[in-house]
Amino acid sequence: MATPIETRLFINNEYVEAKSGQTIQVHNPVDGSLIASNIHVAGESDVDDAVAAATKAFKEGPWSQFTGTQRGKLLYRFADLLEQNLDEVVRLESLAMGIPVGGAKMIAQKIPAYFRYYAGYADKLEGDVFPPEEGSYNFVQYEPLGVVACIAAWNTTYLYYAWKIAPALAAGNTVIFKTSEKSPLGGLFIGKLFVEAGFPPGVVNLVTGAGQTGHLLAAHPKIRMISFTGSINTGRKVQEAAAKSNLKKVSLELGGKSPAIVFEDADLANAVPNLAHGFLFNSGQVCAAATRLYIHESISDKLIPILKSTFESISQGLGSSPLDPNTFIGPVADSAQFENVMRYIAEGKKTAQLITGGNQKGDKGFFIEPTIFYEPNPNAKIIKEEIFGPVLVVQTFKTEEEVIAMANDTEYGLSASIYTENISRALRVASKIESGSVAINCAFRPEKSTAFGGYKQSGNGTRESGKYGLHDFMQAKTIHVKL
Ligand code: NAD
Repeated sequence: MATPIETRLFINNEYVEAKSGQTIQVHNPVDGSLIASNIHVAGESDVDDAVAAATKAFKEGPWSQFTGTQRGKLLYRFADLLEQNLDEVVRLESLAMGIPVGGAKMIAQKIPAYFRYYAGYADKLEGDVFPPEEGSYNFVQYEPLGVVACIAAWNTTYLYYAWKIAPALAAGNTVIFKTSEKSPLGGLFIGKLFVEAGFPPGVVNLVTGAGQTGHLLAAHPKIRMISFTGSINTGRKVQEAAAKSNLKKVSLELGGKSPAIVFEDADLANAVPNLAHGFLFNSGQVCAAATRLYIHESISDKLIPILKSTFESISQGLGSSPLDPNTFIGPVADSAQFENVMRYIAEGKKTAQLITGGNQKGDKGFFIEPTIFYEPNPNAKIIKEEIFGPVLVVQTFKTEEEVIAMANDTEYGLSASIYTENISRALRVASKIESGSVAINCAFRPEKSTAFGGYKQSGNGTRESGKYGLHDFMQAKTIHVKL
């Protein structure tokens, strides 16, 4: 039998009711039914409590004295506990935002490995030593920042435990993690696992709430860093609140409008599943999804019908329960997300040719048919703006130079995919694409050791994952010793 859903805040190693007295509801996007009516919302005094607990843990608690080995030991234990509880975490996320459990599990089962990866780093935070010069001996050591707040998007919340909580703790910070109001359940559930793993009180705090709670964190004078994943608009607000308060460090991982380029020599048997299933994973609600597809004009007559029929066959599965492990595609996350995507589809119908999809599927819940638009007007919103749903926009190109210009003609720069059997061309094009990651002959998938982040307005230059993400949660201190 499923355990009862935890709806309270997790502060100082205890589940507590919000002092704000405010709650939010979570509805199942499959049919609109109520999942939880009383998710506690962190207001000002709740955020202050979380910050006080995290500050005490950072400055005075046992955590402040822990060696890297001790921090690593707790991270390893947490990884094991998370692994044992993954099915429940995935079920809770699926209930709240509709991601099918099969696909969700594929991502979620990588998360313990991220915690183990960073556990291994906790006792290897090396600095630099320089040869003595002009009468002084100099070295640089890396130190944690203090209280770090993490603000998450809802599409794969557990990935943000891995990208944010794991490296922040390995580096010795204390953490306040805010889930999205659309997907708060798994993030509250894991609180007890941190206690069980042995983390001292205040080291990890989990809060919920919408924009107001996020703003309280971004504007808080005692928080030293915000690690944010979400939209460009909200990222701007976070940066502004951070600048107006205590100039805290801000790491922004923002939206995408990523290109996929298919050259005439591509292996279509490989490209099609990546362009269809790869793109439609989580109903296209993936920041790095390849939403702009550029096909060489010589193969468009062949590829577009194959893509159309693949999208239509995926569409047949729409409406199946996301809790069924065999379901590939689910609804979009909630009514706001549904209306937003449908607005773009309505605009697309006026500014481009509709190849397939374009409608709600069924009459309950938030299922949207996988949709393809072709050759939009140059200023159509569907080619310029992030839709964050199952809507692909296709254009054709003639030359390599032309398609590089088309791919780069955007303010986004998160990811890109290139399909060709010519490795020289693939690497040449990859180096000219303005994005933080490029996948060759596959759809982008995050990995624990590589850097993830955006060029241009998809981020502010910071990177998550790997050693890059770890360094984001540390600051360098130079020490001069006079000889
Ligand atoms: P969002 O910007 O609406 O919300 C993100 C988070 O910010 C939520 O927790 C929300 O409660 C909080 N928030 C809202 N207003 C705030 C404010 N004024 N101050 C502080 N916090 C505030 O984004 P979303 O709808 O949750 O997620 C979708 C967006 O996230 C898309 O643009 C997607 O591309 C992007 N995303 C980026 C990445 C990445 O790593 N680059 C990953 C996933 C999603």
